Amino acid sequence: LVKGLEALNDLPCETLDKYRLPLWVNTGLMADVLRSLERGAEGVGLYRTEVPFLLRDRFPSEEEQRGIYREQLEAFAPHTVTVRTLDIGGDKALPYFPIEEANPFLGWRGIRVTLDHPEIFLAQIRAMIKASVGLDNLRILLPMISGITELEEAKALIYRAYHELLEEGFDVKLPPIGVMIEVPSAVYLARELAARVDFLSVGSNDLTQYLLAVDRNNARVADLYQAFHPAVLRALLQVVQDGHAQGVSVSICGELAGDPGAAIILMAMGYDVLSMNASNLPKVKSVIRAINLEQAEALLADVMPMADAEQIRVRVDQTLREAG
Ligand code: PEP
Ligand code: MG
Repeated sequence: LVKGLEALNDLPCETLDKYRLPLWVNTGLMADVLRSLERGAEGVGLYRTEVPFLLRDRFPSEEEQRGIYREQLEAFAPHTVTVRTLDIGGDKALPYFPIEEANPFLGWRGIRVTLDHPEIFLAQIRAMIKASVGLDNLRILLPMISGITELEEAKALIYRAYHELLEEGFDVKLPPIGVMIEVPSAVYLARELAARVDFLSVGSNDLTQYLLAVDRNNARVADLYQAFHPAVLRALLQVVQDGHAQGVSVSICGELAGDPGAAIILMAMGYDVLSMNASNLPKVKSVIRAINLEQAEALLADVMPMADAEQIRVRVDQTLREAG
């Protein structure tokens, strides 16, 4: 089977009736990049910059960061690399920047931390923009956005960094800017957010956790963390429809995109890009290549009115079996 999947590496990700669905990857380390390229990834939908920060014993300098980001951008060029600003807090603590809180997932996390520390945010943005000089394959992604004000503040800092670099004589371009849709409030604001950015990217890991009020890392409530919960599916559909109504591309970079059954549903919903761990890419590609878009749309039409996650799972499995 593994050998069979390897043979897919150089084949396009398209359905039997030739509908193209770009499969991108999530990265953190350079090792992920090399494996992803081998598997035929067409871009990076989520580069988690907290990973290199976690491996150090202090904040990397702007120049160190430029080098780290440059490696990722160069390895993937000319494909797009979506670089997310630091998403610490929650379950990701930097040893040299401890955050003590009773409810870390509801606390000082992601964009909340970096807007309170513009010096950290600005150094990171400057490093990203400098790293992309001459490659122009960078997109900037903002984590944990819950309202318009956060987005406007972050954008103002990005413009500031860009103008500073221009004045300093760097030959820089302003990269596309996008937001993660991973907090329930952002689902209801998807239109307004989309009107102010170049792309949306759904973080289904956090979105599921926050919609269902189930800690994504708590084994005791793991049964309640249901990827096919009807509320999750309805939120996912609303986001892609609202994003498209504003004319922006909508991708998804949570674990859900790497689940073959979910990938079929997401394709039928109209997601423009599925971004996943490289290890899931071959099996998702093999399922997409084994079905018609029409079958996927029939599955979506069947599952959307269902009120029960288990019933949805059964229907998804039926389509997977039909696809062989
Ligand atoms: C997500 O929340 O789905 C996501 C992709 O971000 P992370 O897993 O890094 O929180
Ligand atoms: Mg997240």
